[in-house]
Amino acid sequence: MIASRMPSPIGHALGGVAAAWTADLVDGRRDERWQPLLLYMTLAAAPDLDLVVPGGHRMATHSLFAVLLVFIIAAAVTAQVTPLRASRVGGHARWRDAVVCAAAYGSHLLLDWLGADNMPPRGIQLLWPVSDRWFISDLDLFRQTARQQFLRPAIMRQNAIAVAQELAIMAPIVALLWWARHKKLRIWN
Ligand SMILES: [Zn+2]
Repeated sequence: MIASRMPSPIGHALGGVAAAWTADLVDGRRDERWQPLLLYMTLAAAPDLDLVVPGGHRMATHSLFAVLLVFIIAAAVTAQVTPLRASRVGGHARWRDAVVCAAAYGSHLLLDWLGADNMPPRGIQLLWPVSDRWFISDLDLFRQTARQQFLRPAIMRQNAIAVAQELAIMAPIVALLWWARHKKLRIWN
């Protein structure tokens, strides 16, 4: 049996950047912007850390509860580690930073929901811990990737096609958002 995840970390990383930039389009001044792209990418891939928990994949870390937790932690952390920045740009920048971080994390749930999953129980436990129902769109927008025996030719081919499809879908979206973001915020340099 090949244990799988839905989109690969590459697809999730691009999804995280896209979600963060979308959230960051809302209101605000140019000098309030920061761009921790690596943080967005890490947050977007983080839910799959539950792969190390036997039988625990796509449950707690793939829930709206986890997204809320990321928002709360991000708000607390940005208040602690960026006092200079907060005093410089004002309090509401901190809230946007928290929203942007939560959006990056939440993008993982969206991409998994849109992805193919042929291993029951299919989907993600979006409403954990309130409900143990599994959610999936059945749109199969993203292919499954395999993380075990990934050096086997058949698995390598499967993963390569999946990542190529993720890039084909996500790269234009990220490029479009980059353009929109720079046009709206006029931060070309
Ligand atoms: Zn996942």
